[in-house]
Amino acid sequence: MSEEMESVEDFRLRAREWINANLGPMQPWDISQHCDTDEEELRAVARDRALQRKLYDGGFAGICFPKEYGGQGLTPEHNRAFNEELAGHEYPSRFSVPTFSPCAAVLLEYGSPEQKARHLPGILKGEGVWVQLLSEPGGGSDVAGATTAAVRDGDDWILNGSKVWTSRAWWADWGIILARTNWDVPKHQGLSVFILPLHQPGVEIQRIERLNGESEACQEFFTDVRIPDSDRLGEIDAGWTVGTRWMYHERIGHNSPYVTRPIGLKREQSHEPSVIGIARKSGRLDDPAARELIGEHCALGIITHELQGRIAAAAASGRGNKDLSSIDRVFRGTASVRRSTIAFELAGASASVWDEEEEDATQAVGMNFLMRQVACIGGGTTEISRNVVAERVLGMPREPSGDRNVAFRDVQRGPKRS
Ligand SMILES: Cc1cc2nc3c(=O)[nH]c(=O)nc-3n(C[C@H](O)[C@H](O)[C@H](O)COP(=O)(O)OP(=O)(O)OC[C@H]3O[C@@H](n4cnc5c(N)ncnc54)[C@H](O)[C@@H]3O)c2cc1C
Repeated sequence: MSEEMESVEDFRLRAREWINANLGPMQPWDISQHCDTDEEELRAVARDRALQRKLYDGGFAGICFPKEYGGQGLTPEHNRAFNEELAGHEYPSRFSVPTFSPCAAVLLEYGSPEQKARHLPGILKGEGVWVQLLSEPGGGSDVAGATTAAVRDGDDWILNGSKVWTSRAWWADWGIILARTNWDVPKHQGLSVFILPLHQPGVEIQRIERLNGESEACQEFFTDVRIPDSDRLGEIDAGWTVGTRWMYHERIGHNSPYVTRPIGLKREQSHEPSVIGIARKSGRLDDPAARELIGEHCALGIITHELQGRIAAAAASGRGNKDLSSIDRVFRGTASVRRSTIAFELAGASASVWDEEEEDATQAVGMNFLMRQVACIGGGTTEISRNVVAERVLGMPREPSGDRNVAFRDVQRGPKRS
């Protein structure tokens, strides 16, 4: 007889007790995901690996992953209950995205039994941090236009090309990579996905410094990298089938049932400065125009949170169109840009010019404003999500494309030559 599943409420109580006994308070880098120096970042990574191991030893790692791969074999509702209990506590934040979603989710759906047995227990024990290698220097939106190529050589494949904007590749362990394996068919039909150890001969990783001084983004150059065919994920040339699910899991991101992450940050734990505090500091708290902006800022925050919750619940229950996550993506991105802009407007001149020594909220407002477009780019742009909503949620006609029935090698790439 099959073992009866623990009720969500019993599980919640057990989780609450364990979390209170074993996990400390949330750390600043859990929220900002950013450390000032590489040494601090590597310490945070080591701490996250140890925390993930702690969850594993405590019987709370991989709540929705099958037991045979080290998970708990429970439901998305159990995972949500755990995440709600986790609010305010430290957690292995660097494992959430992209290790658990999309990488582990894709492994679970498309990995062979051997691949799952080889990799999933290691991820759940905190031994493997994964990244996603999708975007290329030629463009990240047209993912199916990948030109990083894998050529068959006996039982192996030989990989050449470059991927870019890969977050955290400099310290991560493994990646999943989309590569072209057939140039004689239309672009979506000639791709395959592979599992790749990141630190090996032939893989050169360069870091990219962003405007705010972070250098978590990387570019990788692959020169004759040998990949055994046993590390292919899914069928040869059917990488787009894997890719579409991969991007679905990427869009869900932190809302995925595979992710361990606190739900419901308290205000003092948010890395966004309080807009009321900003308006007070700039002497505008009684200004009716400023009050309207504060109201708009708060309303956008509430709607973002509620919309995420509704879409996550629909995804967890299997109800609703699988592309609904694109609506969340568009709203989250545009609302975040607007909220950064409002905070900047409220702060006035002090957010435009600041003293290097002055480590205060207005400096964060200025930097958030400069970095605001990241919210509409990372994880696929909001423009592309609008296309998904139009075509796959609303059923509108597909946008015209000149490369659909053409062998990929004959598709024009780059400017037309006369
Ligand atoms: C914080 C951050 C983290 C990231 N992490 C990763 C990562 O870990 N791994 C990874 O592979 N990538 C990552 N990326 C890259 C990201 O996925 C790409 O930047 C994104 O997909 C856009 O690609 P692109 O920058 O090449 O722009 P392009 O594809 O060149 O697009 C340029 C502009 O044209 C618009 N556009 C393009 N095609 C269309 C169309 N058909 N319809 C309407 N508008 C269109 C785009 O929306 C964009 O505004 C990250 C990016 C950021 C900002």
